[in-house]
Formats: sequence, C-alpha cells, structure tokens
Amino acid sequence: MPELPEVEALAGYLRQRAVGRRVDRLEIAAISALKTYEPAPTAVAGRAVVDASRHGKFLDVLFEGDLHLVVHLARAGWLHYREAFPSVTPLRPGKGPIAVRVRLDDGSGFDLTEAGTQKKLAAYLVTDLAAVPGVAKLGPDALAADLPTFAERLRSRRGQVKGVLTDQSVLSGVGNAYSDEILHAAKLSPFAITDRLTDDQLATLHAATRQVLGDAVERSLEKRAAELKGEKRSGLKVHARTGLPCPVCGDTVREVSFADSSLQYCATCQTGGKPLADRRLSRLVR
Ligand SMILES: [Zn+2]
Repeated sequence: MPELPEVEALAGYLRQRAVGRRVDRLEIAAISALKTYEPAPTAVAGRAVVDASRHGKFLDVLFEGDLHLVVHLARAGWLHYREAFPSVTPLRPGKGPIAVRVRLDDGSGFDLTEAGTQKKLAAYLVTDLAAVPGVAKLGPDALAADLPTFAERLRSRRGQVKGVLTDQSVLSGVGNAYSDEILHAAKLSPFAITDRLTDDQLATLHAATRQVLGDAVERSLEKRAAELKGEKRSGLKVHARTGLPCPVCGDTVREVSFADSSLQYCATCQTGGKPLADRRLSRLVR
C-alpha cells in the first residue's frame, strides 16, 4: 500500500510534470471508484492543474477554481504518468486496472490504476477538502509533527503502538510497512502499550519516524523523478523480509500474521530476544 513517502513522491512528480497544463478530459473507467456526484467529472475539462499535494496517504490534485481531485490509492492502487495515450477514445467503464484517466493538453496525463479484484481505490471530486471523510478526520502529519505534538497524539490513544501509529486519526501517513520500519529503528516492540512509553522512548520513536519517513521520501523522489513505474520499495530492514537476516544485528526477521495483514520485526532489536506470540495479541492489532 502506498504510504506517506510514495504519495509524497507522486505529488512531487505531478508538481514537476503536470502543473500548468490544462485538462482535456477526466475519464472515469471504474464507476465505483468515484465517490462524489457533484461536481461532475466533466467540470474538470478546461481547467489548469495548479498544484499537487498530500494529506496523510491521500493525493490531492488541485485544479483552477479550487476544484480538488482527491485520491486514496488503497492497497493496490498507483498513479502512472503517461507521456502519451495509445488512443483518443475515452475509456469504457469496465473491469480493467484503470480507474481514472486524466488527459492533459500536451497529450500526456496520468492513470490511476488498481491491481487485483478487490477494488478499494477511492476518488473524490470536491471544492471543499472537508467533504472527503477520510481527510476530514486525519491527525497531524507523521513527518511534520514536532515532538510535543507527536507525544501528545500517541499518548492520547491507549493501545499497542503498532496499531496507534497506523491509526490515521492519531497521526497521518504511516501504514503497515513503514510502521514496521519505524518500530525496528526505535527498537520498540510493536505490541508495546502507548501510555506506558517513557519520555525517552517517545523521543526515540519520534526521531525514528522522521528518519525512516524522511529517508524513504528521498529515495522515492529520486526514483520517481526518473520514471513512475509502480510501487517498488527499497531500503526496508524488516518489513516484508520474514526469514532474512536483520541488517542491524543479524537475527532472523520474524512475522506475526493477522487475518488480512502481517507485521515483521526483529526479536533481538525490539523485544529483548523474545519472539512475540502470534495468537495472544493478534486480535488487538488491526
Ligand atoms: Zn535486529
């Protein structure tokens, strides 16, 4: 799932490439992906792209006249920039991977795509960002939050730190992958309880959050500037590395699985060498 660093890079790419261009047409191929009715997609035609930004994991493309195309890429969504489209024929609603296509006046544009059969990508066409339910309830940005804000937010919700860190209303932008990385960098168990974290642990967690996300943004920007190819992460130390050696200590990266997700961690770095029980706490973590 694209998280803060990837969405930031997509926004950065659009700022470079699309700002100043005028929209020829906004096409909706996956009817269910568009969550708003008014204004209609035809209202975007003729407007210039004036900015692209990010709110948590939401991408926000701003058109002239305060019209926003806000997109949540969900688990398997992505944005593909095209220098040209194969055909001028509008997309037909169907079952393909393309959900939304934006054609610009220089012949280029971008597709919002979603792989797989579970269609969760959500797009909103709004003049007021507060009209997007997921955006309205976002907590402070995880990368921008200073230590007092970060500590206050984490302590405001009692729970396992993995779950609280990925709760978008507590702090926005962090998902399953980068929370694994942040907790590994902070040497904290994913099951540590937030209101029992010491000031020192919170300061370490805050520093780790900025470090991990900051580095990932930089890596993503370098990659995207060359070509938007799809989601390929590099530099991860524990996430999606079950069974491989921890690059910090050499212990084997372990996993805890849940109904539809899993987390990875290093027992030596994070839990005093003790493997986490899978069953015991799994129901408490989303
Ligand atoms: Zn380790």
